[in-house]
Formats: sequence, structure tokens, C-alpha cells
Amino acid sequence: MQLWCTENQSDSLGLTARVKETLFTGRSEFQDVAIVDTYQFGRMLVLDGVFQTSVVEEFIYHEMIAHVPLYTHPNPQQVLVIGGGDGGTIREVVRHDSVKVAEMVEIDGMVVDACKKYLPETSIALNENNPKVRLKIGDGIKHMKEAENKYDVIIVDCSDPIGPGEGLFTHAFYQDVFKALKPDGLFVQQTESPFYHQELIQRLTKDIASLFPITKLYLASIPIYPGGLHCFTIGSKQYDPSTGETGKRPQLKTRYYHADLHKSCFVLPNFIRELLK
Ligand code: SAM
Repeated sequence: MQLWCTENQSDSLGLTARVKETLFTGRSEFQDVAIVDTYQFGRMLVLDGVFQTSVVEEFIYHEMIAHVPLYTHPNPQQVLVIGGGDGGTIREVVRHDSVKVAEMVEIDGMVVDACKKYLPETSIALNENNPKVRLKIGDGIKHMKEAENKYDVIIVDCSDPIGPGEGLFTHAFYQDVFKALKPDGLFVQQTESPFYHQELIQRLTKDIASLFPITKLYLASIPIYPGGLHCFTIGSKQYDPSTGETGKRPQLKTRYYHADLHKSCFVLPNFIRELLK
């Protein structure tokens, strides 16, 4: 018998992967959590039926959400990741020597536990008692309200703007992010598909630009997200991410990100430029 797992992007579009084995399913307080082993993408985390990350192509998303902001800031020391329960983003964050503390606030302990068990290569920084990592199971929205002038870089590695992630795409949340950043701080958020989430992207770009002097969108190709092309948005108080890396720090060995790509990922197709006008 053949088993297939489908993410329904809408009632007219889905992305389907053939499943070798279902490794974990559970229902947490917040969402349905599943880990499936697929023929195409290897082991994959699926939340509420939405593909989140897979061992075969996770390097693209995690390198791009971590290294673009971290190489934009000349000396990132205090870093916060909101969400990111699979651990891939914090794994990339702690590779930067300048980073002294990497906090992670993930709402769902079941996601972290399942990823520690079934995605050990992605969650390695959560498994190995890394001295830089401080993991808190809690709501990133609440955490953000309480922080002030604390972080150099904040990375919002969230799921879609439904369920527990909804409040992470609001003006009120961006105000709290602004307050939590130091005077030269910056933040990045995964901001969905330029094909299927155009209204959302327009709204959040306006919200972020109303607070941050520099707001920039960049792109990466993510095979497991419907549409392939995926957006990330940076709000920055001082450094312009699109001019490339700042400071003279060693290049980390990466599979997708590099210094030239850091600049080119901000070069947008016309239909996205139009969207942001
Ligand atoms: N790469 C992924 C994507 O875009 O599909 C995101 C990966 S990560 C697994 C997303 C995480 O955000 C989930 O584990 C979810 O539990 C977490 N999350 C959602 N809302 C949150 C909130 N309010 N505070 C903290 N974490 C949250």
C-alpha cells in the first residue's frame, strides 16, 4: 500500500509527499504534531497538516533565516529565536562566535521533544547542552512584552499566521519587538509565500515600516513550501541588510548562504516590488 501526506495550501492546491513511515503523531495543547519519513524529503515535521521542515532541505531555510540577519549585525551577542521548535535556526545561530547567549522561546514542548527524538541532526543544539542556548517553553508574544533593550537580533521562526502563530504577525507584536531590541538591533521573520500570501505580506510590511527605519524583504527557494519561493522580512534600526555583510567575521561553512547571496537575495522580481509599493 502506498501512503501519501498532503499539505493543503488551500481548497484548490496541495503539496504531496509519499510516506515511508509515520514516526510520531500527537495532539498538543496547541496543534497536531507529526513526524513522517518521506521518500523525497526524508524525515519531515508536520504541524496541523502543514509541512514545516525536512532533513533533506532544511539547510536552506535555517541558513537563510539565521545568517542574513547575523551577518548584517556587526557584532551580534544576544540573540532570541521565537518559535523554531525543530532547533535548526538556533543550531545556525550558535555557530557565530560573537553570539554569547542564544535564547529560544517555543510555545509547544511536544514539538521540541519530538524533534529531539526524530530529527537529531536539526535539533542538535537543543540536545547537546550547548552552553550558549537557553530554551524556554512559553509564548513568544508574552515573552516579547516583557523584554526591553535586550537583544541584538531577534529571529521570528514561526509557523503560519493561524493558531498560536497568529499574534506574531501583528503591529502590536512588532512594537514589542522594537522595544526589545537594542538601539542598533534588527529582527527577521519568515513571511510566507509571495504567491499565496500577498495581502499578509503587504500588511506586515506596512506595519514593520511604520516602526523600523529600514524594512527589507528577501527570498529563498524552499522546496517543501507551496510555491517554492519564500519570503523573509527584516526590520532594522540601523544596519541595511541589503548592502551585504558587515564587520570582518570568518565565513562559516554553509550549503546555501554565502556573502554574494546575502546581497542578491534582496534583488526582487517585479511582481514582488509592485506588491511592496
Ligand atoms: N520553518 C517553519 C515554517 O515556516 O514552516 C517554522 C518552523 S518552527 C517548527 C515554527 C514553530 O513556531 C512551531 O514549533 C510553533 O509551535 C511555534 N510557535 C507558533 N506560535 C508561537 C508563539 N506564539 N510563541 C512561540 N512559538 C510559537
